[in-house]
Amino acid sequence: MPEIISLGEALVEIMRHEVGVGFDRPDFFVGPFPSGAPAIFADCAARLGARVGFIGTVGNDDFGKVILDRLEKDGVDLRYCYIDSHLTTGVAFVAYFEDGSRKFIYHIGNAASGVIEEERIKEDYFEGASFLHINGSALSMNEAWRKAIYRAVSVARERGVKISLDPNLRPEILGVDKVRDICRPVVEAASFVFPSGEEAMMLTGKVTPDEACRFLVESGVEYVVLKRGDKGSTVYVKGRSFEVPAFKVDEVDPTGAGDCFDAAFLVGMLRGFDLEKCARFANAVGALAVTRKGPMEGAPFFEDAMSFMERS
Ligand code: ATP
Ligand code: MG
Repeated sequence: MPEIISLGEALVEIMRHEVGVGFDRPDFFVGPFPSGAPAIFADCAARLGARVGFIGTVGNDDFGKVILDRLEKDGVDLRYCYIDSHLTTGVAFVAYFEDGSRKFIYHIGNAASGVIEEERIKEDYFEGASFLHINGSALSMNEAWRKAIYRAVSVARERGVKISLDPNLRPEILGVDKVRDICRPVVEAASFVFPSGEEAMMLTGKVTPDEACRFLVESGVEYVVLKRGDKGSTVYVKGRSFEVPAFKVDEVDPTGAGDCFDAAFLVGMLRGFDLEKCARFANAVGALAVTRKGPMEGAPFFEDAMSFMERS
């Protein structure tokens, strides 16, 4: 049985070969790379040595095979990860620009990645788990996923499984108010929230990331960990906060760093690391994640992450 459960979209990412090339003209792509925030999280947590279960759906095609092969190889439990025979696997196209911004075209909500049935959230599966990780991207996908996630949250709470939320908000699809509404039941149940600055402000309506994170802690979230890209992270708990500097690396591809960071923080907790060490470990794993092209490709194994952290 898993220690950590993650659920949501699994998809492949197909990216522009060169920086600065948008989608508005023919040019080269590379991929398919296994992706989808909840799947990246699951894969990284498994590589870091946790027993992880992933609940999601792929199509009966080679893109689906890319994802399942990868998760299976890294030891993720896939008993509730289904293959839908009618729909194709979810796809995200990504273009990168010189200023660090990204553009996406998603085929997700109406692909196999958008399929979930509440019955797949089995109560037994949560027995003995420590963490349920929710991603805002899955919450914003469609009504079926929202229902499934709310059910998972309630099943988890009844069993003392702690809830972790990466808001990973995409307000461009639903609008800020709707995004806040759909996140609310998860925020209220969450012991961990892992936002970026923008996400923290959006989630709370506060005007600085610091105010937003303090507000989340005051509203009852036990650990709020603000992700600040190449500047590292800031941990907020009741009565105190502290900054943890980033590790220096050459960034090749930032996608997935946040999900790997979340995974590492929770794995640190499972291993009994103190709070400072959890954050340092998460920074190390987030830094390693950006050193390879492809959202999961930089996810390190436990020993490599530890030796990088101790060496740097
Ligand atoms: P995404 O949503 O694209 O996965 P995110 O915005 O949620 O990412 P980031 O803040 O980009 O998350 O990255 C998460 C963590 O990874 C950071 O807090 C930091 O510890 C580490 N990290 C990310 N980028 C770098 C970098 N260029 N150099 C060093 N560490 C980095
Ligand atoms: Mg993120």
